[in-house]
Amino acid sequence: MKIKMKPRTSTRMKEVLADEGKLGFGKIFSDNMFLVKYLEGKGWHSPQICPYAPFKISPAALCLHYGQLIFEGLKAYRGDDGSIYLFRPLDNIRRLNASASRLCMPTLDEDFCLKAITELVKCEKDWVPHSLGASLYLRPTMLATQPLLGVQVSMEYLFFIITSPVGAYYASGFAPTKIYVEEEFVRAAPGGIGYCKAAGNYAASLFASREAMAKGYNQVLWLDAVEKSFVEEVGTSNIFFLIGEQLITPPLAGTILPGVTRATVIEMARSFGVDVVERKISIAEIISAVQEGTLSEAFASGTAAVVSPVGLIHYKGVDYTIKKGGIGKLTQKLYNEIIHIQYGKKKDNFGWRVKVI
Ligand SMILES: *Cc1c(COP(=O)(O)O)cnc(C)c1O
Repeated sequence: MKIKMKPRTSTRMKEVLADEGKLGFGKIFSDNMFLVKYLEGKGWHSPQICPYAPFKISPAALCLHYGQLIFEGLKAYRGDDGSIYLFRPLDNIRRLNASASRLCMPTLDEDFCLKAITELVKCEKDWVPHSLGASLYLRPTMLATQPLLGVQVSMEYLFFIITSPVGAYYASGFAPTKIYVEEEFVRAAPGGIGYCKAAGNYAASLFASREAMAKGYNQVLWLDAVEKSFVEEVGTSNIFFLIGEQLITPPLAGTILPGVTRATVIEMARSFGVDVVERKISIAEIISAVQEGTLSEAFASGTAAVVSPVGLIHYKGVDYTIKKGGIGKLTQKLYNEIIHIQYGKKKDNFGWRVKVI
């Protein structure tokens, strides 16, 4: 399938990128987007790169009523020599297809999807920020567009990719977060869609997140839906705990989003010789480890922040401080090594980096 190119060119990025410290996250969009349509029987058709603009869908479109909508999140990074890189993009494409299958949506050919991403990044290359930590965030999204009010699988879809220049996550330094252990509301249940980047999962998480923030915490630490005992994720990131000599993270068993950064942290920590264990870990075990002083580091992992140190855990009315709220050595080392690979500052022995230009 040949992508029809009708992009707009502008110089708007010059003003937008004049102060990369002010970019924030996901507020500004570049000039162009990628679009492709799907019709049952015909398949994916009419791919194009065209100016970023609102598009029309029917008020009866199935995604608006029953939530057949999935997305991805990845970034394009600029190296010192002006090269632009993607990081493990095939992992995002495969996860998009896993989400699509679970929600009865059509999958995309991996090579075609990668081509759509790289062509769009090439087209928007001047929108990729220059400072370390800043990047061009890419948001591939698939939605059901058939106008129909019966609860059923759509026969029509739209897949698009928009891009947004984003600032360094830690604009004011590597700040440890305060997390709130949520004991009433859950994010995902066994057999559900917790492993998918499906819009409904985020709608379901808003209530508890808002409550936690109103109480002065940054994120919710989700527990398992069955026993409300085992730790799952923090906000929209995966979670790691360094207890003694072991780096522990909950296993992927359907209720946890399989983060690309999670996989990266596991491989990289192992390459440092760290004993990484994927196993169920209860909040009770974590609290005892904090009290006994064996829990030395905790951090969240995700594309937005890479790794984000956890400085405090609130559980059953008590605030437990980790490492006096500071930043762990392993957390810092993982952060440095991962961004050096992402920005082309270091040889990539893992085969993660993909050069676009
Ligand atoms: C996207 C996401 C993550 C992190 O995934 P990455 O691929 O590392 O960005 C973790 N948990 C949830 C719920 C997410 O939506």
